[in-house]
Order: sequence, then C-alpha cells, then structure tokens
Amino acid sequence: MASVLEQLGVRPIINAAGPVTRLSGACMDADVIDAMGEAARVCVDIAQMQAAAGQLIAGITGAESGYVTSGAAAGLMLATAACVTEMDPGKMNRLPDTAGMKNEVIMPRSHRNFYDHAVRSVGITLVEVGISDRFSGAGVRDTEAWEIADAITDQTAAIVYVAQSFAQPPLSQVTAAARDHGVPVIVDAAGQLPPAANLKRFIREGADAVCFSGGKTIGGPQGTGILCGRSELITAVALQHLDMDVHFDLWTPPPALIHKAILPGAPQHGIGRPCKVGKEQIAGLMVALKKFVAESDETRYARWLQRMEHLADAIRDLPGCDIRIDHHRAIPVLRLALAHAEMGMDLARQLMEGDPSIHVSTSDIYDGILIFSPVCLSDDMIQPIADRLKQAMSG
Ligand SMILES: *Cc1c(COP(=O)(O)O)cnc(C)c1O
Repeated sequence: MASVLEQLGVRPIINAAGPVTRLSGACMDADVIDAMGEAARVCVDIAQMQAAAGQLIAGITGAESGYVTSGAAAGLMLATAACVTEMDPGKMNRLPDTAGMKNEVIMPRSHRNFYDHAVRSVGITLVEVGISDRFSGAGVRDTEAWEIADAITDQTAAIVYVAQSFAQPPLSQVTAAARDHGVPVIVDAAGQLPPAANLKRFIREGADAVCFSGGKTIGGPQGTGILCGRSELITAVALQHLDMDVHFDLWTPPPALIHKAILPGAPQHGIGRPCKVGKEQIAGLMVALKKFVAESDETRYARWLQRMEHLADAIRDLPGCDIRIDHHRAIPVLRLALAHAEMGMDLARQLMEGDPSIHVSTSDIYDGILIFSPVCLSDDMIQPIADRLKQAMSG
C-alpha cells in the first residue's frame, strides 16, 4: 500500500535550512515517535498529564512549575494572558477585552518581531521602549534597563524580552528593574537551545516565565513548546488553556497544577483553548526533552560537525566558491560563498525546484552565501546534496 505521503501526493524534502516551522521542523527519533504512538492508544486526564509533564519541566529548568504548550508562540500568548488576569476567573472569561485590567506590556523596541502577535492577541497595548541607535551606524546604544523601568506604570502587566546572544539590555538588568516594581518578565527563548544550560539560565537570571520551542533542536513534536516559570503564572496558564467544560463539584484538577480551594469558581474555556495540546504531543515532548538533556552539548556538536565535514568533503572541488564550516554558533553550519553574490538566489531556487527539493538557509543570500544546517539532515542526504550542487554549478 502507498504511504500516507504518497497518497497525499506530498514528497519529502531535503531540509538543510534547519528546524523551521515552514519546513515542518525537525525530525523525531524513533523513541519519541513510539511514545506518541503509545499515548495515542489510551485516554488520560489531560490535566494530570500536564501536571506530570510540568514537574519534569520544572526539574529540568529549575523553575517552580512547567507546562506543555502548542509551541513557543503559544507560550508567549498564555504567559501574557496569565500576567494580565493573574488568578481572577472573571478576568479570564473577559479576555481579550482587557478593560479595567492591567493591560500594557513593555518590550524593548529592538526586540519587536512578528511572533509578538501572540502577545498582542491578548488584547493588551504594546509599549515599545528605546531606540536601537546602533542601527544608524552612528549610535552606540540600544534600549537600556533604566528606560524600561521608566516606562513601567500601574497599568504594566508584563515585560516581554526576546533572548538572543546579542540581546540588549542584559536580561538580569531588566529583571532587576522589573522586580523593583513588582512586574513579571516573560522571556521568548524559542530557539535558544543548545546550549542546554539555557534551559535554566533565564529562570536563574530572574525571568518569571520562559518559553522554548519543542519542535526545534529539542527534537519534540513540531506543534509543541515548553513554558516554565512561577507556579502562580503556570496555574493561571492552565486555567486558560485546559478544556473547562466541567461541573465545579466534579472538577478534580491535580493540586500540583491547580489548587482548586483558592478559586471562587472555575473559569470557562479561556483565551488559550484554541491552542490545545494533545496527549501524544506531551508524551513525545517529554521523551525528546529527556533525550536532549541526556546528550552533552559537546557530543551533540560533534555529531552535527561530522555531518557538516562529510558535506564539506563531498563538495570540496566545487568550482568558484568558498566553502567553510562556521564554528561561531551553537550549531555548526556550512557556509558556501559564491564568487558572484547575485547568483545566490538562483542557486537556492534551483536546489528547491529539483527533485528531491533541497532547502537551505537563505539568511545571508544577499551576500551570495548559502548556509547548510545539519539539524534536519541524515547521512544519506549528503551525497544527493553534493550531486545537485555540482550539477547546478556546472550548468
Ligand atoms: C521559532 C521562534 C518562535 C516560535 O516558536 P514556535 O515553537 O514555532 O511557536 C518564537 N520566537 C522566536 C524568537 C523564534 O525563533
């Protein structure tokens, strides 16, 4: 019988672009897939499963509590909602109408990006702070922590910070300023793994909630993410994410996740209900996360590097281009620089349009550089990539 992809008429691609969502994220190891299959064969109380996963996440991140979301962006939305409503079920029911609530969220202007739709969808007003003066080439400064502190008012629900190796101001300065004013800090750390130490780092630096993608380098299901942080926020997340079609008297949420006694009543379905998470996703993510932390950064790097060296060897005699492995990032990538920068777009297109379709990272395409990431490649894909490059470059 034809495989499901054959039946659908969808052909697998060779993904050298890395675990990006538009190319379906990373591949999963067999034991992650097995865990999803096992979970799919039974029914569970989903709140109990979230509570158990949350405990594992808390242990691995050093946070008080954890939760599985349908991606890092969903984590941003849920964390923002939790900061706005806190533990008030009435406010939870009214979102995204934030009238009468703390409804301003601060972001350094240089951190703005289109994943922050997730933050804005909660009905808040985004307050941008600072100007990246460095962008002009004349300035030397980005947003500073004192400017963030200066923007905090009694309407401020949260500060959102996007973690990057080059992000300014330093997170520890932002969390210190926020703490002085009693305002929570949410960190978008979607793609900040490896190093695995980053699982703990942002919490240690004072963040109240941190989200990671499950489908990038962790190797979990593509539609998953991790949220970790303060217990109260995670409870407010769970209350606005779980299915709430329950009678209060029969509702028995796990106390580790939701302490029912402190609530005046149960909220109805919340703003997070459209980004639900299935038992298969939770099961797969937990196995992937355990595997991710069990492998050292060094072993992971060596595994990826070997694949890139294999590719470098296979294309060593490509005419008219410079090939080098870039060791400056947490993931080793191969950079193929063309003699004529304007040929980059054409080459990327030829690789995409061939069979099988080959996708590369095009972040430096204007400089005529194609970037190959090892994360979603397997060894049997190296020769086809080399053959197609040779064919394209000789044409
Ligand atoms: C990938 C990414 C996201 C989105 O993560 P998902 O898990 O796909 O929701 C958000 N923010 C940043 C900075 C990212 O790189």
